[in-house]
Amino acid sequence: MGERIRFEDGRWIVSDRPVIPFIEGDGTGPDIWRAARRVFDAAVEKTARGKRRVEWLEILAGEKAFKETGSWLPDATLETIRQHRVAIKGPLTTPVGGGIRSLNVTLRQLLDLYACVRPVRYFPGVPSPMREPQKLDVVIFRENIEDVYSGVEYRASTPEADALIAFLTERFGAKIRPGSAIGIKPMSKFGSQRLVAKAIAYALSAGRRSVTLVHKGNIMKFTEGGFREWGYEIAKERFGDKTVPESEVGSGTGDGGRVVIKDRITDAMFAQLVLRPDEYSVIAAPNLNGDLLSDAAAAQVGGLGLAPGGNVGDGYAVYEATHGTAPKYAGLDKVNPGSVILSGAMMFEELGWTDVSAAIVRGLEGALRSRRVTYDLARLMPDATEVSTSSFAECIIEHV
Ligand code: NAD
Repeated sequence: MGERIRFEDGRWIVSDRPVIPFIEGDGTGPDIWRAARRVFDAAVEKTARGKRRVEWLEILAGEKAFKETGSWLPDATLETIRQHRVAIKGPLTTPVGGGIRSLNVTLRQLLDLYACVRPVRYFPGVPSPMREPQKLDVVIFRENIEDVYSGVEYRASTPEADALIAFLTERFGAKIRPGSAIGIKPMSKFGSQRLVAKAIAYALSAGRRSVTLVHKGNIMKFTEGGFREWGYEIAKERFGDKTVPESEVGSGTGDGGRVVIKDRITDAMFAQLVLRPDEYSVIAAPNLNGDLLSDAAAAQVGGLGLAPGGNVGDGYAVYEATHGTAPKYAGLDKVNPGSVILSGAMMFEELGWTDVSAAIVRGLEGALRSRRVTYDLARLMPDATEVSTSSFAECIIEHV
């Protein structure tokens, strides 16, 4: 019998038979989930020799949920994730038209998944537009709830937008063109600090050397500038003996083995990731900066097909493929399962099954070295053989 994963005193309690809910996803979701699950089970089996096993529990969302229950996102799905704390999902169709709850948004609110974590690193053999793609190895912690994504936005010339413009103009002398659309950018000390603290805690546990706060505080002084200031503040308050601000790393004194806290203006950071990628390790960013940086960084190492992600809170986490449903290839056993497979590796690492996580990464590296890869990589890799989703999974398992 499987057991639920628990979270006590800031730590995951994971038995040898954890129950992990999964959503296979729409479009190509079932193809990649089938492949990923085989890789996960093989990695667990090979590292634990029968002593551990994951009990996968299917939960419904998206098209399959709609067909079977009439709801795109049944309450039972949300409740199961809440009870089991950790889940993994394939991509879901975003139905066009009103009245549909987005799973990601709903889960973020319900479970307070305030950090979107996106590791970006290069896998040898993957085609990349960069000369030295292996120099990029970062983990991006993007704030997931606040900023211009908080949903407080009003269409131009609506009573709400007009009332806000009138208020800001009359009360504060703001200069806003009449008839503008208005969006609000709330960023709190609480929200910023818990995100930065999570990034620093990760850097410490993973033995990473720096955390860079990425902000546009030169222009948005109180929101983005606040993020920077609150970030340095929490680093000093909570991790004072284990971190050091870059400004205090003098020539000769070095960082004393501590994690260096740096900050960069957003536009400069895009350039830095291209020009001096190896100077960055963990990145903590507000919502919009983090969103843009994650995909740009993923492109540098060969694209979204291999980019994993997780939405993480305190004691709750949902891991997911970062690409969409690729509907034209649905059911063809054709697309790359790498993104959801690496998301699973992240999940096992978070849960403390680091040997399983390492085995999955090793397997994927081996498959890429053997140059038997899915179409998206095969068409860009010289001498590669194109294989199906399921054969790619078999090849990964051979190398686990
Ligand atoms: P997409 O990611 O599905 O496709 C973009 C391109 O990448 C297509 O050419 C596709 O064939 C290719 N591609 C995607 N995943 C691939 C893989 N694993 N291997 C090889 N090639 C792959 O994006 P889209 O076409 O904009 O969106 C399709 C649907 O997915 C929409 O309904 C959208 O709302 C949804 N979507 C969901 C998520 C999510 O659930 N997290 C994210 C993005 C898009």
